[in-house]
This record gives sequence, structure tokens and C-alpha cells, in this order.
Amino acid sequence: MADIKKDEIILFLENLKIKNNYNLVSNIEDIDIKNNLIQIVLNVDEKEKEDIEAATKIWQRELSKFTGFDDCRVIFTSHRKLSESSKEVPSLKKPVRENYQLQHLGKIIAVASGKGGVGKSTIASNIAVSLSNLGYKVGLLDADIYGPSQQKMFGIVKSETKIKDKKIQPEKVDNVTLISMGMMIPDDQAIVWRGPMLMRAIQQLLMDVEWGHQDFTIIDLPPGTGDIHITLAQKVNLAGAVVVSTPQDIALIDAKKAINLYKKTNTRILGVIENMSYFECSSCGERHEIFSGGNIPQRLGEENVELLGEIPLIKEIRECSDKGVPFASDDTERTSIFKQISKKIISVL
Ligand code: ADP
Repeated sequence: MADIKKDEIILFLENLKIKNNYNLVSNIEDIDIKNNLIQIVLNVDEKEKEDIEAATKIWQRELSKFTGFDDCRVIFTSHRKLSESSKEVPSLKKPVRENYQLQHLGKIIAVASGKGGVGKSTIASNIAVSLSNLGYKVGLLDADIYGPSQQKMFGIVKSETKIKDKKIQPEKVDNVTLISMGMMIPDDQAIVWRGPMLMRAIQQLLMDVEWGHQDFTIIDLPPGTGDIHITLAQKVNLAGAVVVSTPQDIALIDAKKAINLYKKTNTRILGVIENMSYFECSSCGERHEIFSGGNIPQRLGEENVELLGEIPLIKEIRECSDKGVPFASDDTERTSIFKQISKKIISVL
């Protein structure tokens, strides 16, 4: 197999049945193919070296069989830390693996938050609906595998997953084409997948769904900065990321981690959205800054990051989520904040 390509090697390795193999493959930094030699540079975590050595011995053996090359080597490097979540986000080179081919999803926008409960999913659904109210075709992928909520936000009563011509059929609500693990798994069933299974699920939601052709696709990410975020940032050609935070310090710490992750994966940060920015009392008309609002880019030390909008605490936003009808579905002056934010996102893209 003289003319084997890097991508074929990656695909071959990904399909080997070895524990934690998918994560390992995603840490390949380079592959050099010369004459009868394949050299794989793999970034390793020193603490896991023993397990990794066992796995890469299998890689070498199987690759030799597969390619017929005399020499298949794995060279370890450990110049960066591999992190599961928070702490320091490692410097993440684009992997040698080609990106997923997702042109049919249009411009893909990741909505991230760092911290849970700040309104990320609410904002993702309302941006999707506002973009569709502006006349665009919009996809919405709920990538929060452990705590999917988009099906509820759109009032979808769970049904059997429909498969047609080997493709998962998404739901279409308000002109938004939507897929969420919550449409496939009973509410009371905990998902206990880790590493490779999680990645396989995300890959399926991207690749094996009958998405049609969209102008924009919004990805509602899980909270945090874990494997899903890193893999998506590396393998999906994201148009950019939007970071949602409430203005309180405890949420900003996590928002900063999300921003760092996108910087290190060379993903464009389209801007931040300040949610629950303030509460306007309907009786006295006074504006209360419950989470000590304002100046999010400055407080993040990110003066150059665009502030896409400040969304107040509005009772109807919560009521609409609970009812399963996104607030912005009703295209009125009251809901115009989401339209303004969507227009701003389009303008910075
Ligand atoms: P996350 O995705 O960050 O975990 P959610 O979008 O699930 O957060 O929102 C958490 C809760 O806060 C939901 O009940 C939602 O309806 C409510 N919520 C979000 N944003 C607002 C807002 N601006 N005003 C009122 N309620 C909000």
C-alpha cells in the first residue's frame, strides 16, 4: 500500500478496538509517511504512559499488517497537558485528521458557556428561532449529551427515533431543524457513556442525521470545557463560538475558560452574551442588577471580544422554555433582543 494517506491511517487506527483508543487517536500530532516507514507523533500524558504504550504497540503491529510497511513507529511527545475539563486548556494544534465534511450545515456556530444554568440552551434555541424568523434555514444540534434540553424547549414529545435510508430523521419546529439526544433516550435514563462512545454519538448527530441544507447550524454545547468541546473545535469547521455568561464572578471564571479553549483551538470568538443581565421591575420600573451586571468583556479581560447583547431576566423567557415554545417564536418588539443579537452575529461572521 505505497500511496496510503494520513487520513486513512487515522481512520484505520480509530476503528481498532482498544480501550480509550478514540481519545488517543485525537492526540496524534503528526504522521510522516516515507518509503517504507510510518512515523506517528503522539502527544501523551506522562501519567498514562504505561497504558498508552500497550495501545500503541497494537497500533504498530496492526498498521504494519494493514499497510505492509516494514516499520511503523509511534514517537511520544508530552509538551502539552491533556485535560478532561477546566484547569488549563492545553495548546491544541489542529489534528492531522481531516475535518468532518459538513458544508450542508452552512455556517456552524457553537454556543458555549463554561458554567451550567446561565441560560446557554435558552439562548441557543432563541437565536435559532430568530435566525429562522429572519428568513434563514437553521439547524440546531443539542450536543449536551448528558443533559439534553432542546427537545423540551421546542415542546417535542419524545418519539421513537425515526430512521429513513440509514439517516436519523430530525424534527422541524418553527422552521428550525432540530436533533437532540433527548429525543431518543427516555427522560429518566442516565447516559453513562465516556470518551469514545460520547464522541461517536456526537459524530452521529453531525453526520448521520438527515439535516438537509442549512444556512446556519447552532450547536448547543454542554457546560464546561471537556472532550466534546475540544473535539468539535478541532474537527468541525466552526464559523465561530458565542459564549454566554451571567455577569456574576463565579460564572465569568468559567466563561473565561471557554474563551481560552476557543483561542487555543484557533476558533473565532464571535462574542459574548450577557444573560440575566438585569431585572426590570414591572411595578416600580426600576432596573435591578441582580447578578451585578455590566462590562462583561472588560471583566473578562477581553476588551476586544464583542458584546453581542445583554438579555434581562424576563419571566416569559422561563415560562416559554417550560411551555416548549421559544420566547423569540413570537416575533414582536418584546422579543426583539434576540433578533438584534442574531443580526449582530451575522454582521460579525
Ligand atoms: P443552561 O443551558 O446554561 O444550563 P438553561 O438555558 O437551561 O441554562 O436555563 C436555565 C433556566 O433559566 C431555565 O429555566 C431558563 O428558562 C431560565 N432562563 C434562562 N435565561 C433566562 C432569562 N433571561 N430570563 C428568565 N429566565 C431565564
